[in-house]
Amino acid sequence: MEFRDLKRQYEYLKSDIDKNIQSVINSTSFIGGEMVSHLEHDLAAYVNVKHCITCANGTDALQLALMAWGISEGDAVFLPDFTFFSTGEVVSAVGATPVFVDVRTDTFNIDINSLEEQILNVKEQGKLNPRVVIPVDLFGQPAEYDEIRRVADKEGLFVLEDGAQGFGGRINDKKTCSFGDISTTSFFPAKPLGCYGDGGAIFTDNDELAELLRSYKVHGKGINKYDNVRIGMNSRLDSIQAAVLLAKLPVFMAEEVENANSIAFKYSEELKEVVNTPVVLNLYTSSWAQYTIQLTNQETRDGLQEYLSECGIPSMVYYQKPMHRQGAFEKNGYECNDDMFSNTKQLCETVLSLPFHPYMQDDEIDIVCCNVKKYLSSV
Ligand SMILES: *Cc1c(COP(=O)(O)O)cnc(C)c1O
Repeated sequence: MEFRDLKRQYEYLKSDIDKNIQSVINSTSFIGGEMVSHLEHDLAAYVNVKHCITCANGTDALQLALMAWGISEGDAVFLPDFTFFSTGEVVSAVGATPVFVDVRTDTFNIDINSLEEQILNVKEQGKLNPRVVIPVDLFGQPAEYDEIRRVADKEGLFVLEDGAQGFGGRINDKKTCSFGDISTTSFFPAKPLGCYGDGGAIFTDNDELAELLRSYKVHGKGINKYDNVRIGMNSRLDSIQAAVLLAKLPVFMAEEVENANSIAFKYSEELKEVVNTPVVLNLYTSSWAQYTIQLTNQETRDGLQEYLSECGIPSMVYYQKPMHRQGAFEKNGYECNDDMFSNTKQLCETVLSLPFHPYMQDDEIDIVCCNVKKYLSSV
């Protein structure tokens, strides 16, 4: 069994994907061109945001957003302690200070009380300027943007939505990647909408920011890329990746998000008596980048993972280590201690992500669930 079976999706979409890739090769327009602008148009329409700016990956997308706002040394950027490294890496990369915030154990997303506490701590210490909050739509579920927006407005913070795992999710009818002042996503192959290499995109309604982002991603270009008015990056989505995404997008919109939700529902129905199954808030829809259960303690989690592996069932621990414990952030200039992150600590010890993708069959879900139950009844 595959953890995320990309082959099955390829077999389903083979003729469209092959045709699109071939047409890029025929055009020999490998960077930029028709495919990329077509994709940006379609993504912006789907998310219902004015501008979509594609780039090389989801990490660059976050960093470009911080660059466009001029975030730098002396600035505090708030982000969850429980996320992929990129969310904090980009903050340090522009010279600012990541300030970690604890998460909720049920949704895995940023905890509003903890956010308000950390903002207060930073203000009391008086060394850093609170500038940005980066909520992450972890495992596919949007963060609580009503509450985040209330806090951000009160404190004068920009909201940068890290929708790398959330593309395709929504709150009511409002789509993921429309909640930030700037929002970003990733098209890494295993994300909800993935290409066949690296890729990313940035979304905003703000015309000026959109223009700045288009400059920063192409060497800080002015009139063209040989007129350089600021220090930027080389961060473009290549045309073959755009071609793959254009072939996948219609099916992603029409079927995949819905299929993912019915698979998650089946998993939860089968497992809810024996483990903590993921909670999706009322009126929220997840795009299910991961299906993540919680066990009662680390020993049981590790034992279950080993048992599943012996049965040929892959599983993953997202994430092993809280962000504030990553060695790279040791000298980041903001004092924090483990007590601030008790929920993150608990999650790192107890989470396990199970095989999941929109093309999973009922019998595969059954095999995973049977084995989870078999192991748990034996301990
Ligand atoms: C994958 C991921 C990223 C980075 O995306 P890349 O395209 O791999 O650079 C950023 N944030 C989160 C939460 C992610 O899961």
